[in-house]
Amino acid sequence: MTLKLRCEDYGFECDFVLEGAKNQSLLEQLRNHFEEEHGIDYTTEAITQMIMNRGHSLESIRKE
Ligand SMILES: [Zn+2]
Repeated sequence: MTLKLRCEDYGFECDFVLEGAKNQSLLEQLRNHFEEEHGIDYTTEAITQMIMNRGHSLESIRKE
């Protein structure tokens, strides 16, 4: 199961898109992007919450 994450969906004017298996490492990649490109150091929990708010269940993200 794959997940597509668009940076612009999280409030940035940015064309960065991540697509991959729905797991913790995809979250970490998005977190690193926010930190490196936008200078915002979100916690993994905050990122998880943001993705959940877009309709993805926590279980499906955390399951390896
Ligand atoms: Zn971005």
